[in-house]
Amino acid sequence: MKYISTRGQAPELTFEEAMLTGLARDGGLYLPVEIPVMTQDEIAALAGLPFEEIAFRVMWPYVSGSFGESEFKEIIGRAYEGFGHDARAPLKQLNENHFLLELFHGPTLAFKDFAMQLIGQLFEVALKRRGDRVTIVGATSGDTGSAAIEAFRGLDAVDVFILFPHGRVSEVQRRQMTTPADRNVHALAVDGDFDDCQAALKDMFNDFDFRDGVKLAGVNSINFARVLAQIVYYFSAAVSLGAPHRKVSFTVPTGNFGDIFAGYLAKRMGLPIDRLVVATNQNDILHRCLSGEGYFKGDTIPSISPSMDIQVSSNFERALYYAYGEDGGAVAQLMDELKNGGFNVSQGAMEALRESFDSGRVSEDETLATIKSTLTHSAELVCPHTAVGIKVAEEHRSTDVPMITLATAHPAKFPAAVEKASGAHPPLPSRMSDLYERPERVTRIANDLGTLEDHIRRHIAE
Ligand SMILES: *Cc1c(COP(=O)(O)O)cnc(C)c1O
Repeated sequence: MKYISTRGQAPELTFEEAMLTGLARDGGLYLPVEIPVMTQDEIAALAGLPFEEIAFRVMWPYVSGSFGESEFKEIIGRAYEGFGHDARAPLKQLNENHFLLELFHGPTLAFKDFAMQLIGQLFEVALKRRGDRVTIVGATSGDTGSAAIEAFRGLDAVDVFILFPHGRVSEVQRRQMTTPADRNVHALAVDGDFDDCQAALKDMFNDFDFRDGVKLAGVNSINFARVLAQIVYYFSAAVSLGAPHRKVSFTVPTGNFGDIFAGYLAKRMGLPIDRLVVATNQNDILHRCLSGEGYFKGDTIPSISPSMDIQVSSNFERALYYAYGEDGGAVAQLMDELKNGGFNVSQGAMEALRESFDSGRVSEDETLATIKSTLTHSAELVCPHTAVGIKVAEEHRSTDVPMITLATAHPAKFPAAVEKASGAHPPLPSRMSDLYERPERVTRIANDLGTLEDHIRRHIAE
């Protein structure tokens, strides 16, 4: 499979090249030249298989040519062996026709482990084969950073630098980033918000001297390999509820649009997904856009679901690419307008988006109330992000199509909000119970491109 940029001005790459590069040189995001389709029989045959086997069958057409078949199977096996649940992504019933897809059984207790653990193994195999090394820089609103650190810690060919907004991540999130002792792990607390971290990262990728000098690689949700790994659990969940013979819908707590975009690809691959529902907190640019109000930046407002506190959703560019009929020039123009505040979506593109997506927005009070009511009515303690999803899902639930809400993090990652809402204290799984005792290692740093680049140059391969 070859990969092209959403802005149409970067060279076509193989899967391996697109994965190692992250952001395209024209500023765009990589996508496969065509979306592979699975037949209804191939989808039906996934029912009852182990998660790893479903992962192989779903992802293989995207990676073939870059990895061998048995090599890729071994990579998948190593990626998910550290998960705390044999089903990897178990489904739980909440209510009639409403199910919770638990994506928090990985090493950092959030869904990002699904993609990041796989990427760590893919990078290791690809870099060893090339005799190369890279510097991974990521920006995180909380969960990406720890997931990247867990995936790359201790590897020889990789340094990991994670930028996170100082004081704006939960204590568990921060400790998961600052307590790994491996020398190739570097946690940077930036004086700014998540959008500042994300902007600094983009600027580093656009500084070609720096980018080539440190062999910069990105594993943020713009990396296509991350999107790819997330397609798998849409298939595993849907077939366990009767797909392809029965349609299903998904509600996804959304920030950067990476997770739900994987659902869109699953649908385009032939999985009978009825609706893909975008659930946002008070940072609702996506809900406003899908409601027809255009895509205009606001200020980021800190919330109790911090991993969704974004001003713009970087992966939405991929959805726009398809909504605009795969016209890279049109996407490039929209992204230019976004620099000056935003843009209106054309009528044709709006219709294309509405064929797949619905949306809803949840306030802070509603999030807290949903945590409490979910505990009361379904005996499940959920994290604030998941609660945002459950609330929006209830508003979009129908009687004939099962709704699956993605549970994106374990409640113990956000103990303060969960306890405030429900009175119940969510304990950490026993394998992490000493997190609060481990020493922290972190550098506080100014939100300034030169300072950040200089720091990274000086701390590579220490
Ligand atoms: C990252 C994250 C999200 C948002 O996912 P996107 O792919 O950015 O839309 C939601 N919930 C949690 C817990 C997360 O870590």
